[in-house]
Amino acid sequence: MNAEFQALCARLTAAGVPDARFDAAELYRFATGGRDPRLDNGLTEAEAARLAALGERRAAREPLQYILGEWDFMDFSLKVGPGVLCPRADSEVVCEAAIDLLKDVPSPTVFDLCAGTGCLGLGIARHVPGADVTCVEKSPAAWPYLTANTAGTAVCAVQADVFTYYKGLPAACADLIISNPPYLTGAEMGELMPETAREPAMALDGGADGLDFYRLLTACYKDALRPGGWLVLEIGYAQAADVLALGAAHGWVHGSCKKDYGGNDRAILLQKSEKRC
Ligand code: GLN
Repeated sequence: MNAEFQALCARLTAAGVPDARFDAAELYRFATGGRDPRLDNGLTEAEAARLAALGERRAAREPLQYILGEWDFMDFSLKVGPGVLCPRADSEVVCEAAIDLLKDVPSPTVFDLCAGTGCLGLGIARHVPGADVTCVEKSPAAWPYLTANTAGTAVCAVQADVFTYYKGLPAACADLIISNPPYLTGAEMGELMPETAREPAMALDGGADGLDFYRLLTACYKDALRPGGWLVLEIGYAQAADVLALGAAHGWVHGSCKKDYGGNDRAILLQKSEKRC
């Protein structure tokens, strides 16, 4: 243990940073090229200066993910930074639910709408053999992260608005559509944690009742799925009943909800009927 690390823990704690010790250790590793503060004897002057500057950014409540520039999701790492929503562990259960639905589908066609970093689409591409995945993102600020994360993979990135994108999709072209759309309510947008307030409002704001994107996705994306195809949606912890009701109202079948590892409702699964009509 060393004095600089202790001082950083104290600085972040005083600034109200949740998990100050974890964040301090991450910043210490970042500033030293990977050294563990519990085993390290101390810093060079340059490292100490770098760590102090990083610590001030975190004390000002810049998201840790933005400072590090990379964040882990499932079994891989994504580039992140200002302008794109940070991948969250909560979303892993959404991705896993989709992977499970696709396990017996040979070379499925998948769309990740409102893709942000591309975490959901990339997770599916890594775990579903032969999957043909397209990530769709509208934001010019998020776009560079999506293209960097999909570079060198078979995942395709498209810059488009999901409110119109469906009009260009052939009928029954997809096996599964996944989305973590903006879903916070107007009230929740008014009381964001300081870190979340630094993330793009466009990725968070789901309209007055938080449901704008669920209305769109349940109403307009069924045609693009083949009969028996799935719509997999991340939701906020209090939205399961509303999103299941929207699904039922638009004729989706076998609606169900999965919880995240924190015990909160997190994913809604809706199936397009097998019956052709
Ligand atoms: N999970 C995010 C939050 O709680 C919201 C992400 C979203 O709107 N898709 O801040």
